[in-house]
Amino acid sequence: MTDLDAVRARATELLREHLGDGSWTFAFDHAKTRAGQCDFARRRITVSRHLAARFSDDDVEQVLLHEVAHALSGARAGHGPTWRRTAARLGYTGSRLHDGPIASELAPWVGTCPAGHEHFRYRTPTRPLACARCGRRFDERNVIAWQRRATPTATADLRNRVEGAPVTR
Ligand SMILES: [Zn+2]
Ligand SMILES: [Zn+2]
Repeated sequence: MTDLDAVRARATELLREHLGDGSWTFAFDHAKTRAGQCDFARRRITVSRHLAARFSDDDVEQVLLHEVAHALSGARAGHGPTWRRTAARLGYTGSRLHDGPIASELAPWVGTCPAGHEHFRYRTPTRPLACARCGRRFDERNVIAWQRRATPTATADLRNRVEGAPVTR
């Protein structure tokens, strides 16, 4: 169990150390399927309240370093060489928290099936897609509803978010 106050204190410390002009802030969010997020438009990094409470201190530290590296590298860096260099310099080791499909983090299209499974796309989805976790064949009942993300964000995904590719009709 990790103390949320300790997470907040550590996040504040990291932001002050690496993004010292005070324009970046930290907050907890309520995500259940990702550990952290970097919101470039609002200049804010967030960590899941639910997951922070279950993670070890070391895991939380890794999530924070991952997101601070995004904040330092900028949205366009994605998880490319600039971000990787920055993250490594901060002490990010690329832990098990980040084995998932990295693409999902920065994909502009986010879809949800009626059961709540999340899917990600870089291009505008043009055909109806059904959730592959809900069924192996196309089924209207499992059709994914897509939304375009308003701002570029980056998130540290959990491995358990990995899903099969959506099913095309
Ligand atoms: Zn589903
Ligand atoms: Zn990331």
